[in-house]
Amino acid sequence: MELIHQLNILVIDDDKLMRNVLAAMIIDNGHLPLVASGYEQALSLLNHHKVDLILMDVEMPDIDGFVLTRMIREMHSAWIPIIFLSANDSEAYLARGIDAGGDDYLTKPVKEVILAAKIRAMARIASMKDQLEILNRKLEKLTNIDSLTNVMNRRALEETLINEWAISQRQKSELSILMIDIDFFKAYNDHYGHQQGDKCLIAFAQTIKSQLNRETDRLARYGGEEFVVVLPFTSLEGAIFKANEIILALKEKQIPHQYSSVAPYITVSIGVSSTRLAAESVHELVSQADIALYQAKQSGRNCCEIFEENTVIL
Ligand code: GH3
Ligand code: MG
Ligand code: MG
Ligand code: MG
Repeated sequence: MELIHQLNILVIDDDKLMRNVLAAMIIDNGHLPLVASGYEQALSLLNHHKVDLILMDVEMPDIDGFVLTRMIREMHSAWIPIIFLSANDSEAYLARGIDAGGDDYLTKPVKEVILAAKIRAMARIASMKDQLEILNRKLEKLTNIDSLTNVMNRRALEETLINEWAISQRQKSELSILMIDIDFFKAYNDHYGHQQGDKCLIAFAQTIKSQLNRETDRLARYGGEEFVVVLPFTSLEGAIFKANEIILALKEKQIPHQYSSVAPYITVSIGVSSTRLAAESVHELVSQADIALYQAKQSGRNCCEIFEENTVIL
């Protein structure tokens, strides 16, 4: 037994008696009628209510049902099934209705059993469409998420960076980023095994994430054991503070790493860059953080370094 949800059905007809008859049939079949006597009222109802189905009279003064259907299709991107009701039973008329963007055509007088069946059929299609949209949204989310750590992936990071860069340029606000790389992670994998390495990456990402309190702060996996934290509306000093908080959080977390030369637990090196340091593009901002990260590795790891201009990489 399929479950049909209650639908909001908009009846558009200039004939009061017809509106009443259709509304009664709709109620009889367990749905909710909304009624409009012409195009103005119809458009207003469509703007203020969720409408699941439209029963559209064709012959109306001012704007007829075919023209109104075209208007609705242009104004509303979401598809709403439209069934025409007309006293005219010519085939050419029916074809015109479908071409105007309608989905079905019934001739008046309408038999209740036929109308009820059409409503069921349209409700089925509408519900399949809803499910498809939900799946699409899930899929969209999956394409943006790193499957191991559940944080943003590289693809989504690039999109985020482009957006945040544009916002910071427009609003003249400071955007900072942290490039984070786990120290001696190859040694971790070699000794503890790749599976344990994966588990470590998951715990690691959670630890970093727990340090990000602002809604606008984002963590992404850049690749392998490298992560990027995007800090919109954050000064260079704020970013350095955040970097040190992350280093401290890992010290507290104590994920054991006996084969690291810098500490008996998982540590990171962090490169910091900010729009204050005169990057001319978002790519430059990222490569500056990368250069700073390299500096942090050179400085002995488990620390953060800020990008400095005129840095020469040996
Ligand atoms: P450094 O301190 O200079 O960063 O040294 P490192 O060993 O961390 O750096 P390196 O780039 O030599 O090695 C990175 C290692 O990260 C290589 C690989 O074993 C490991 N790794 C990268 N991606 C994954 C992954 O998805 N899962 C696991 N388990 N290991 C990964
Ligand atoms: Mg009419
Ligand atoms: Mg690396
Ligand atoms: Mg590393």
